[in-house]
Amino acid sequence: MNNITLPEIAENLLLAKRVLLLSHTNPDGDTVGSTTALARALRLCGKDTLCLCDRPIPARNLFICCEGTYSTECEVLESDLVVSVDVAAPQMLGLLRDTFEQRTDIRIDHHASADNFAAYNFVDASAAACAEIIYDLICLLPCEMCEEIASPLYTALNTDTGGFRFSNTTARTHRIAAALMEGGAAAADICETLYENVTLESLQSNALFLEKYQLHLDGKVLFLPITMADKERYGFSDENVEGYATLSRKIVGVELGMVLREKDGGGYKVSMRSRKTVDSAALCALFGGGGHARAAGATIEADSFEEACKKLLDGVLANIVFED
Ligand code: AMP
Ligand code: MN
Ligand code: MN
Repeated sequence: MNNITLPEIAENLLLAKRVLLLSHTNPDGDTVGSTTALARALRLCGKDTLCLCDRPIPARNLFICCEGTYSTECEVLESDLVVSVDVAAPQMLGLLRDTFEQRTDIRIDHHASADNFAAYNFVDASAAACAEIIYDLICLLPCEMCEEIASPLYTALNTDTGGFRFSNTTARTHRIAAALMEGGAAAADICETLYENVTLESLQSNALFLEKYQLHLDGKVLFLPITMADKERYGFSDENVEGYATLSRKIVGVELGMVLREKDGGGYKVSMRSRKTVDSAALCALFGGGGHARAAGATIEADSFEEACKKLLDGVLANIVFED
């Protein structure tokens, strides 16, 4: 799967003058933290570097970025090297797809179910987060670890492992987290920002969850359909409903939680989270999506929300396999 090594990536980065780092649409802590850290490291190495995402970084992830690191303007930088980080498939580039699908030189990723769309691909599916790979890469660059690099990487590692609780967490994850703390990561502040700051709006949205969830297959599958009207009724954005797939999987007896939402900009997006009995990536692949075994996503092609719900439920209920 890999046709480039980390030392070769480091070499290419150091040969480039201007580097553009691409994040995936609907950006999470890993894609934002990993690109921010790499951008800061590259700037310390004298490179003109910019991160790009198809839409503005959501408010809850803004604390990870540093001023001036991110842009949403496609043409802002005439770069000679384009590197994507945590982008599993070209559709994950979102609005940047048309411009960059054919122009991505190097793709750094940790999704096994991936589409190797870049000219050179480095994929380590054993990495809990791209942050682990980016940490190794930064160690190959001629710059010192510092708080400005360590904090975004620690945030990326922490969020993609659900606070070091998900099954992707390994001894290596903890070793890198420890090295990042030694390198200046503000771990306690980051954890407080991530986990000890519940908004009243998100608490109120639990009423929406309780009102709308459906159970299937003797309660093993929890399905939560969220329409634009639901979000408007509660004054929510996509961000407020995103956590529900993870919440669903926590419920005793639920093996697969899936949230289908009508997106703010149009389209139907499913997020799946599962326990170890269910392969979420395989189920999302039925709809052209992918991800990890325990956390995956897809966009459902349909003309209406009702049709998207039916397509999703029919596909999942007919194909789901529960392993012991
Ligand atoms: P989400 O539910 O969108 O947070 O996605 C869960 C995981 O699946 C993340 O690691 C995503 O990067 C991945 N993922 C989401 N959508 C897709 C897709 N269309 N193709 C491949 N991977 C995806
Ligand atoms: Mn991601
Ligand atoms: Mn990731």
